Amino acid sequence: MKKLFLFFLPLLLLADAHIFVLHRVGDNRYPSTNISVKLLEKDLKYLKTHNYKIVSLSTLVKRIKNHQNIDKYVVFTIDDTFKSFYKNGLPLFKKYKAPFTLFVYVQSAEEHFGDYMTWKQIKNASKYGELGIHSWAHPHLAMLSNKEIIDDTKKAIYYFKKHMGYVPNMYAYPYGEYNKRVKFIIKKFFKIICNQNIGAIDLNTPVDDLDRIAITGDVNIIKKLKLKRLHIKNFIIKRDKNVIAKISGKLNFSTRWIDIYITKLGWKWVKVNNKKFTYKPHFKLKKYRNRIVIRYNNRIISKLILKEE
Ligand SMILES: [Zn+2]
Repeated sequence: MKKLFLFFLPLLLLADAHIFVLHRVGDNRYPSTNISVKLLEKDLKYLKTHNYKIVSLSTLVKRIKNHQNIDKYVVFTIDDTFKSFYKNGLPLFKKYKAPFTLFVYVQSAEEHFGDYMTWKQIKNASKYGELGIHSWAHPHLAMLSNKEIIDDTKKAIYYFKKHMGYVPNMYAYPYGEYNKRVKFIIKKFFKIICNQNIGAIDLNTPVDDLDRIAITGDVNIIKKLKLKRLHIKNFIIKRDKNVIAKISGKLNFSTRWIDIYITKLGWKWVKVNNKKFTYKPHFKLKKYRNRIVIRYNNRIISKLILKEE
């Protein structure tokens, strides 16, 4: 009975929460990972004046676990602990009294990489937000052995604890890259885990696989706030090594079609019968990182598929 209730609850609540991810702030040397100070301020001002609730990731997760309303809840996460966030981003979050969640690239702080925050700056920033871990060496986790993933994670935790005095329970995958094997290992260390798949958050979202929307360049936050989570029952992406053989599942609403996107193949219109869809692209992946996006109007879910070597 409880499960049934939870399945319908998000439909009643109308709007979903959104987790954004930032990297650099006000550093136009790297446009693909940067947001300008002007745009970030515009976004924060918009959210505050339109009654959005900017909360930390742990607050949002608590509300999900307690089945509380998360309508108009927004979380800002910041990956990599770049100096430009400390210099240009932090003052804005302070000005708008907006908490944030900072994912620390531990090796960069420990070994004093030039472009990154020092432990002292991380500690200072944590007065206004909270911290999670973004690995030790920022590796492509799926390319590592199980032992290498465990070693990287333990090292990150060790040095984080040495400086901050506690072990955080939040993690963000470097490059947003993961597969089943990576997730299985990281889950042993952290309860709250963020990916970088575009999507919205509702009360049925697993907190160890939280979708985040990157805001860089001229991304329009107002458009992104309209996104809702698309639910697919029995969602299967069947692959035969590097060939996507079949994508299938069942929607929780009636429609005659949905849109499915695969990197380098593009968008396809896929028929839906009795809420069920089956798409057999037999498409050979071209890149290491591939997105599969399933979308119906503003409802969206996406997955990252990594090519196997
Ligand atoms: Zn990163």
